[in-house]
Order: sequence, then structure tokens, then C-alpha cells
Amino acid sequence: MVRAVLALLVMTFRHNSNEFVCRSVMMKINLFSVSGGSNDSFFHRISSTDALESYTIHKEPTIASRLAKELDLTVLFFEQSVIAIDSFSFDHNLSTVNDFLKKITSIKIAKVFVIDGELLQNYIKANVTSLETGHTEITETEASKQFQALMYRAHELGAQDTFIHLSNEDDTAYATFKVDGELSDETYALKNYSFGRAIVASVYDGKKGAGTQIGSFDEVTSPQEKNVGHVVTDEAGNILEKYEYRFTKTVTKAPGELLINLRSQGKAKQLSELGLPQEQVEAYKSIVFDLSKSGGMSLICGQTGSGKSTTNYACLLALPRMRNVQTFEDPIEISKPREYRNITQNSLNHSIGAMKQLSSIMRQAPDCLFLQEVRDKETARFATSIALTGHGVVTSIHAKTPFGIVQRLEDLGVEPSTLSSPEVLKALSSQVLVKTLCPHCSLPFKDLTYEEQLKHEQVLRSLKCFTSKDIRFKNSEGCAHCSKGEKGRKPILELLKITDDDLGFIINKDYLGWKKFRLSKGHKTIYDQGVLLFKSGSICLSRLKELPTND
Ligand SMILES: [Zn+2]
Repeated sequence: MVRAVLALLVMTFRHNSNEFVCRSVMMKINLFSVSGGSNDSFFHRISSTDALESYTIHKEPTIASRLAKELDLTVLFFEQSVIAIDSFSFDHNLSTVNDFLKKITSIKIAKVFVIDGELLQNYIKANVTSLETGHTEITETEASKQFQALMYRAHELGAQDTFIHLSNEDDTAYATFKVDGELSDETYALKNYSFGRAIVASVYDGKKGAGTQIGSFDEVTSPQEKNVGHVVTDEAGNILEKYEYRFTKTVTKAPGELLINLRSQGKAKQLSELGLPQEQVEAYKSIVFDLSKSGGMSLICGQTGSGKSTTNYACLLALPRMRNVQTFEDPIEISKPREYRNITQNSLNHSIGAMKQLSSIMRQAPDCLFLQEVRDKETARFATSIALTGHGVVTSIHAKTPFGIVQRLEDLGVEPSTLSSPEVLKALSSQVLVKTLCPHCSLPFKDLTYEEQLKHEQVLRSLKCFTSKDIRFKNSEGCAHCSKGEKGRKPILELLKITDDDLGFIINKDYLGWKKFRLSKGHKTIYDQGVLLFKSGSICLSRLKELPTND
């Protein structure tokens, strides 16, 4: 059955049918020669909705349905020049029905079914999705078409986030995009509030997807969340990309002022696909091998959007396939490739509680646990204790540097004696994502304006690359290949593979001495690696300046 939009008309019962009215109605009915069963009559009285099943509900009879609503009639339109009308109006208010039929000249009508009002309303409820919003009526097909177009644009831009802004008061709706971690200048208009609302409601209510869905889409419940799957196709219908989105709705100011974020879930990548230097890929491989063999923790820190989850997931994919891996996430950010049957993704169920759920996950006897984040004393104690008993733990934590991770764990109540035990910490890392220069339009130093050259001279001298031919600068005007001179992002990873030498510093809480020792052994911080990227012409000086410095 075609699902369509039609105003759901409420029928009110009137008690004014005196003898006179009844007689006049009878007269008019005779005029239209209603019969009880003949199929060739214009009006056709039916006692069940079975006869309606062979017709297709009309998709967009908006003007006619609005008129029916004004006249207080319950009417359903079908594509085969057929309508169904409630018997109460027909029996008691035929002149109105007659007026209605005369006025809707835009729709050809060959047959009118007359049916009990309640039966008809139930039929409409069961077969018609109402997206009617007061101003305009948008069919589900139309809403889905517009959503398809919007997500096609998001796909073209390579957006991680698509924000849909709705304001009932201003009667506006538009979308904005976040590309490579920054809001793009583009504003994608969505006509008006009702239109935008119909689109997001059709996504929230209609799209198949995993995750918790609270009720159906509305303006007052905050927040509403759901994972939705969406396939972006080209005009010919060829599949371009399959996406998983995290749909999050927040009510921003007053009811009717909504912000919907569709965040595309990351795709799991292999270590070799992260864009890391080969020696770091090899280092991670040996860490993962060690975790799978004898347990221990690999912890990463970095800001939201630094790609740390992608790196952690790459570690999980690198684990031998005979290892049982369980994840614990809130929400699931990255969907694992199907073929990794050894990895089971679990998402936090708020009604059960994190610790209870973690204990039940541990009963699945995982060799390795991916814990999205160590965020409190309980999870810190839990993660270190299972590492001590030989489990692998891959997780993230809030800290600024790999050295800071140990301090953070200590702040969360983990004893230095536990942290310095050789079974517990295996790798500590910190990650940022940095925008890379467009190779097609980046500028050599000599092409900068005199003012710019003067501005950069001192920094370049201190970096010992003033005369370098390799360094490049951003061309803010950009070119056909990029946006404002940059294209894509690259992770910078500061990785500490823990050795026995480190454990002495940890037990003595000598973090400064530890860092000094490591730097003397050639450890490269994020900033050090940023300098190398700048000197090789991969990133602009302005991006290097944004990186955390060494002090
Ligand atoms: Zn360019």
C-alpha cells in the first residue's frame, strides 16, 4: 500500500437531524440514485474497507483535502479517480458533500464510496502517514527525496556532521555541514519549518536503524537519538556510499527551536590506512601482538574529533582473529566490518548501568576489551584490574600527553605500584588531526607577499628552515581541488611503547625526569612531528602553530 499524506479529518457528530432535514436528505439521495450494491453507480455504499484495498491512495491531494477538512468531511482520495467519504456526512449533510464534489474540479472523480466514518478513519490511520504540519503537507516520498538530496550534498562535501536547524518562530529550516572538523560556509536551505520538520521526522520515524529510539519525532522531548542507515546514490540510482548516521536532536531555546545533528559514523580502518609513518604502524602492530599474547593496556588521549577512536579500532582489527574482542561504547561511533566475527560491539544501556554491563561482558570471556573511555574511578580501577589478570584493554582517556595519561590514572585512584607493574601499561599515546595542504595550489615562500615573508622570517629561522625549498604555505583562495588551500587531514601520533626503563619513573612519580629521559632517547612529541610535516611541505605554518608545544 502506498503510504501517503492526507489530512486526517476529525468527524464530529451533530444532533440536529430533525424530521425535516431527514426528509430533505432522502430527497437528495434519491436524486443521486444511491444503490445498495450496484458497481456502476456514482455513489457506492460499502460496509467494510475491503473494497478500498484494490485502489492506491492518492499521494498529494492537498488542496482538496484541505477543503474537505474545512467542510468537516472525512475523505480519502485514491489514484483511480475514486474517493471514499464518511456515511454520516453523506446521510446527514449531503448538500455539503455535493458542494465539495463540485468544487474539487482539479480531481476527476468516477466513483464515491460511502462508508462508516469510524471505519474510514481507522483505515486512514492504518494506511496513511500523516506528516501534516499546519502550513503545508509534505508527502513521505517528497521528504525522503529531499533528505536524499541533502545527504548527497553532505557526501560531496565529505561532511562528518550535517546540522539541521529548525525554527518554528522564524519559520525557517536550513542545514550546515562540518567538514574536516570545521563548519563550512555553506548554508543549505530547506524551504521552511514544516518542510524541514517533515524531513527530520521522516528520517527519525521512518529510517531503519539500530540504537535506542525514544517515541516518535517531536518538538518537546529532548534529546532524541537513533542510529540511522542511509545509502547515497547518484541520479541514476547507483550506490555511491553507505552511511551510518548518529541522529541526535536537541531542543535549543524554546520548543520549536531544534537542532538535529546527523553525524556519519566512521569506517573502521586498518593500521596501515591511518596515514601514520611506517615505523609507528610497525610499533603498534608489535604492541597489539603483545596485548593479545599477555594482556595489558593501550591508552590513547586526544581531543574530540582527533581520530583516537579510529586508531583504537585499527588496533582491534589488527588483533589475531581467533581472539575474542568485546567492545563497550556509548554510543557506537564506528561500525566494525562484518567479516570481523571475533569482535562484538556492545553499547551502554543506561537502564542497566555501566559496571553491571561490564561484568556481564566479562562473562563472555573476552581476550581483549575495547573500552571507549576511562572516565572515572570505577572504570579506571576496572580497566587496570582486568589488565593485571592478563586481558588486553584498548581504551582512551582524557589527558594532554602520553606522560600525562599516567598522572591521570593516578588521579583516578590507581596505585603507582599497579601502574608500574610490567603487566599493566603497554602503550601510551596522544593524537591530533591536522589539516594538510592542497598539493595543487600551495605556495612556496618566495610567492608570499613581502609582508608575509617578513612576518614568518623569524619563526622560519628558529625552525632552521628559512632557506628550505620544501616548505609550503596555504593559498587561502584555494583551487578546484580543495577548500581554501587545504585538503584532508592527517593524524599526528605521539607514541610511547612502555619498556622496563619507564617503570622506574612511574613508581617514583618522576614525570618530568621521565619525559626528559625519553626525549634524550629520541622520543618525538606531537610538535616535533608537526615540525617535520611542515618542513616536508605537508602542512602550513599556521597549522604547526596550532599544535600543542613542548613545554
Ligand atoms: Zn588547492
